[in-house]
Amino acid sequence: MSRKNFLRRKEQREKKEIARERIEILFTLAERVFPYDKSLANRYVGIALGVQQKAKVKMPRKWKRRYCKKCHSFLVPGVNARVRLREGHVVVKCLECGHIMRYPYLREKKAKRKSFKSTQHL
Ligand SMILES: [Zn+2]
Repeated sequence: MSRKNFLRRKEQREKKEIARERIEILFTLAERVFPYDKSLANRYVGIALGVQQKAKVKMPRKWKRRYCKKCHSFLVPGVNARVRLREGHVVVKCLECGHIMRYPYLREKKAKRKSFKSTQHL
């Protein structure tokens, strides 16, 4: 690897690291302000999503289910989101817009493939 490439990669890594830190801060702020200012919480989510898309980083697992994929509202289970476990999936319903999101309950790829196969048989 040339030195230039090495530096570029290092820079990319650092940019992503910064993006992840910003996402963490923004979601933490969103959680904090949510009880008294929902729309501000949603604005933080919007900014966090912008940072995430620009830096092309994965949404941290911790916050992945804490916002609506459709209306981008910050979600608090039991307040504006309903969370249910169903057939190996976590089903999150956004009570702001009614959007339903499903997340596989098992994290392992192997388990994911297995459940996919078994549903194909049905
Ligand atoms: Zn929604």
